[in-house]
Amino acid sequence: MALDMEKIVSLCKRRGFVFQSSEIYGGISGFWDYGPLGVELKRNIKDAWWNDMVRNPPPGPDGEEISMVGLDCSLIMNPRVWEASGHVGGFSDPMVDCKTEGCKGRFRADQLKGAQCKLKPSKCPGEFEKCQLTEPRAFNLMFQTYVGAVQDASSVAYLRPETAQGIFANFKNVLDSSRLRVPFGIAQIGKAFRNEINPRNYTFRSREFEQMEIEFFCNPKESMKWYQWWRDRRIQWYSRLGIASSQLRPREQAQDELAHYSIGTTDIEYMFPFADEPQELEGVAHRGSYDLGQHQKHSGKDLTYFDEEAWERDKAGFGTGSFKAWAAKPENAEAIANYQFLPHVIEPSAGADRFTLAVLCEAYQEDKLPNEKGELEERIYMKFHPRLAPIKAAIFPLVRKEGMPEKAQALYRELKRDFLVAYDDKGAVGRRYRRQDEIGTPFCITIDGDTLKNDTVTIRDRDTSKQRRVPMKEVAAEIRAALVPAEW
Ligand code: ATP
Repeated sequence: MALDMEKIVSLCKRRGFVFQSSEIYGGISGFWDYGPLGVELKRNIKDAWWNDMVRNPPPGPDGEEISMVGLDCSLIMNPRVWEASGHVGGFSDPMVDCKTEGCKGRFRADQLKGAQCKLKPSKCPGEFEKCQLTEPRAFNLMFQTYVGAVQDASSVAYLRPETAQGIFANFKNVLDSSRLRVPFGIAQIGKAFRNEINPRNYTFRSREFEQMEIEFFCNPKESMKWYQWWRDRRIQWYSRLGIASSQLRPREQAQDELAHYSIGTTDIEYMFPFADEPQELEGVAHRGSYDLGQHQKHSGKDLTYFDEEAWERDKAGFGTGSFKAWAAKPENAEAIANYQFLPHVIEPSAGADRFTLAVLCEAYQEDKLPNEKGELEERIYMKFHPRLAPIKAAIFPLVRKEGMPEKAQALYRELKRDFLVAYDDKGAVGRRYRRQDEIGTPFCITIDGDTLKNDTVTIRDRDTSKQRRVPMKEVAAEIRAALVPAEW
């Protein structure tokens, strides 16, 4: 049976994953807050991405190490960045208004099918006989602000609508301050803002969200190889974190869907419960040299890359050691690109909030387990991958006496140095298990009478609800083993 989104939303509110922003004032459309467990879940997602993409990226197409570094750019940049990137001129969605009294709704013209008429919710806008929709007009999605005390046209600035442009604007800085050679990638995680016409589907389409983006710079001759490689690795990354491959769909954009600069784009989509069709989690785009070309043109700064290794290798054959002298000869004009070029860019661009929502949907499970009296009881559990689970283990003393709390506290203190763990000594153990199941804690560790005799504890597995006894000193290693990333 299809999962009801209401169940996810209710669990997220009840257990502190996601709250509506400024809820006590009636909220604000398109903005969300992460509660105590949500902030841990999202942080684990961002950490997994940073670790698996930047610090320990997968081996490249020929098994070689690949070079990746990170950046953390400002949210507000010189507005000329957004002129160069094309956002000032063209970052817009088609919008229609409904003129009908009592509706006055505003919709994205290309998403009317998924929207509801305000007066007749069983119909889409435009389908109800009273709908009076205007012609579509372009609505720029960038949030504007002013920098400095004077608010006029010269002080207009924008909240960044994507993290990518900060990377392009710093391309030369990164090259000049490191020993990186093409191919290499620059990654960034950070907030982006879009004044979406219709924020909806919970956190899926928000006005403030976080992106996890890589710009991978490569030789144009090798760009198709890297495009395919990144697309495959990024799909694999989602599977490694527990998303069933049957729920994931890579969708190659058709020629008429592609942005004008894109040589190819694959959307990695997830079958969210709120839609009939899979929806975009991430776009992997082959952007050619469009962005560096635009910034080179608008800034007047040379952003080309010089392949010193290739020049050193070949120069003897040209009878000169000077690239400048060689390049100045008209007969070499076409060959210059073998040594000096604008790199092509492959961009895997993912949404941290969209993936968090996918993880919440994917994890949600219901089953029946026997309670202490042996009667079957409904349970809800969140089957998070241990790497993503907000709390890795919960420690329970079976009873609050006979030295058990002391032992349990000692284990708790030991484990919390390395992991986020919980301590719970309230109520029957069965209840304590249920509380942890509902927030997706993979392991529950109970200190009982036998612990006092032989220093062993029980570890109960969230998904199977099976228990096994292990020596107390091995508990940390057991948890750590579950957190090791899978092989690529
Ligand atoms: P969509 O077609 O859904 O509006 P997009 O193609 O404009 O998305 P990109 O510009 O490619 O999105 O942004 C890259 C990623 O950033 C998306 O795959 C998504 O995960 C995330 N993202 C984009 N817009 C939003 C939003 N409004 N709310 C949450 N995440 C978003």
